[in-house]
Amino acid sequence: MSVLLLVTLQLISADSTRPDPTMEISFAEKRALVTGAGKGIGRATALALARCGAKVTALTRTQADLNSLVQECASITPVCVDLADWGATEAALQEVGPIDLLVNNAACANLQPFLDVTPDQFEQSFNVNVKAVLHVSQIVARGMKARRSGGSIVNVSSQASQCALRDHAVYCATKAALDMLTKVMALELGPHQIRVNSVNPTVVMTEMGRLGWSDPEKAKTMTSRIPLGRFAEVEDVVNSILFLLSDKSNMTNGVTLPVDGGFLAC
Ligand code: NAP
Repeated sequence: MSVLLLVTLQLISADSTRPDPTMEISFAEKRALVTGAGKGIGRATALALARCGAKVTALTRTQADLNSLVQECASITPVCVDLADWGATEAALQEVGPIDLLVNNAACANLQPFLDVTPDQFEQSFNVNVKAVLHVSQIVARGMKARRSGGSIVNVSSQASQCALRDHAVYCATKAALDMLTKVMALELGPHQIRVNSVNPTVVMTEMGRLGWSDPEKAKTMTSRIPLGRFAEVEDVVNSILFLLSDKSNMTNGVTLPVDGGFLAC
């Protein structure tokens, strides 16, 4: 009896020195669609998904970005379309085929003081940041439902959905709308085993982040309100997206996950 116990303990201790395979994320056999995959967070997400074994379709509106992305990772399928164009998006996605994992990442940030906001800027922002998310998700989720395959959708929102930022009236409003779209999608698509969640990052120094936060003095007004004392790295956001797409978050549905170093907790 005591010999058996000793052998068992030795097996446990030997196992604990090996990497735990349950912590690895694999997307082998999965087909993923990432919007806004030309630059920044979307590009890094597309590349990470491909590294984890997914067959990735990368959608954006600048062909040169797609060319360099395919050069970097030849297995990625490029789709060039402007998501502000409902008809062109519908046509482009007909060619894409079944999708298991969707990342609605594309967005624009047109910053103006509230009193200067124009109808054009309002429409452009809501078209890309909200209406296109609804449209792309409808197309993808209809396919998931018809195939009874289930799936996972991650919307890239922002801390700006829940906290007022100067000159961000329209951007904040689009991301607040996106958070509620995420929750209603989770409610209606859950019975089809389609999970829908969002990540809500603080500032990330991508092209978009640099637009509003390059000035070190202005940056300090934000980092001083973040308990971890820094902006997020692209990898911080990508890792949270991968977690929410993966079966490691199988019971997580309808959440808006801050990736903000604690900003929204204060
Ligand atoms: P980014 O560097 O500006 O990249 C955005 C990508 O989306 C680009 O490839 C862009 O293509 C594409 N895109 C924009 N409008 C499009 C359209 N109409 N049709 C197709 N593609 C379009 O931005 P990012 O910082 O990676 O932001 C990614 C997401 O994170 C966004 O949803 C953003 O709101 C969110 N976010 C960003 C931050 C931040 O500080 N960076 C913070 C919180 C949340 P073009 O370059 O060709 O326009």
